[in-house]
Amino acid sequence: MAHRVTLIPGDGIGPELAEATRRVLDASGVAFDWEVVDAGEASIAEYGTPLPDHVLDSIRRNKVALKGPITTPVGVGFRSVNVTLRQTLNLYANLRPARSIQGLTTRFEDVDLVIVRENTEDLYAGIEHMVGRDAAESIKIITRAASERIARFAFEYAVANGRHKVTAVHKANIMKLSDGLFLESCRHIAADYEGRIEFEDRIVDNMCMQLVQKPDLYDVLVLPNLYGDIVSDLCAGLVGGLGVAPGANLGESVALFEPVHGSAPQFRGSGLMNPTALLLSAVLMLRHRGERDAAGRLERALARVLAAGRAVTRDLKDPSDVYGAVGTEAMADAIIAAMRTED
Ligand code: NAD
Repeated sequence: MAHRVTLIPGDGIGPELAEATRRVLDASGVAFDWEVVDAGEASIAEYGTPLPDHVLDSIRRNKVALKGPITTPVGVGFRSVNVTLRQTLNLYANLRPARSIQGLTTRFEDVDLVIVRENTEDLYAGIEHMVGRDAAESIKIITRAASERIARFAFEYAVANGRHKVTAVHKANIMKLSDGLFLESCRHIAADYEGRIEFEDRIVDNMCMQLVQKPDLYDVLVLPNLYGDIVSDLCAGLVGGLGVAPGANLGESVALFEPVHGSAPQFRGSGLMNPTALLLSAVLMLRHRGERDAAGRLERALARVLAAGRAVTRDLKDPSDVYGAVGTEAMADAIIAAMRTED
């Protein structure tokens, strides 16, 4: 039976990446029944809102969504659709693997990190107000329930995936109450896994320095929302950039898969952007749906194209060879061809 999946192409470079990804998935041997719905800038003119109710209804009904990036206006304008989706659907865990890919030129060769980011609270709750004309206040919400839930998720992920260590990342030396509660919650959950999964903690600034010097010391990282957002871009940089960094937003019953990167509006319509991050997000989706063979086939085909280094987008090319880069569609064609030659 075909998998019914909500597909949200998104803004900026999203639609062209979504189209390429859909073609590759349709060639993966798994049948999909796509329910394509718009959210973001495209929806405002038609529905007067960037997140119409029928989009949420579609995701709730299908339980699985694949989503391109959606623009969030800076400083003014509508609230982040991405954050609203995560909060409304209670997608409390943001899973962002950062793994070295053969063939990509990076500082390290064997990075294998998993970011587990709390997805519903912290400064991302967006609770802020002006205090008079010349001061603004943002409220950082950290609860024991959400912190324990994400810590449990990180440890369960570690157990299920043969990982050996969870590192909690915080700034509890300064935010003794909020980050202190996050750390205390992680320690509390860690006790249940003693002897099975190692546990340690790092202050976030030190963590950033250590990750760019010796990423091999780390395994699974669990972080509050804002640090998770920032550190996952750092980790994307370790393995080849935002063009190759996938993600999954997971809740009790619904899962939404999307790349770490944003809508890069300045490149909209260029046809030159890298579909890998969305494709690897789709690999996570295939595994979530139990389609392990197709996930493996797609992952191997992608790995072969990336390792060969010919039919890849310009962000993955050496500066001396940018004219040898291909566009999004041609890279998708090469991945489809690589899947077929394996059959
Ligand atoms: P961005 O991730 O869109 O782009 C930053 C840079 O990364 C780009 O200039 C480009 O050089 C590179 N890049 C990104 N995606 C790439 C790809 N697929 N292939 C090759 N290179 C790629 O970040 P930004 O410019 O800070 O944000 C743009 C918009 O995206 C903002 O409105 C922001 O709020 C939004 N955003 C959305 C999401 C989401 O939908 N989940 C995530 C992050 C940012």
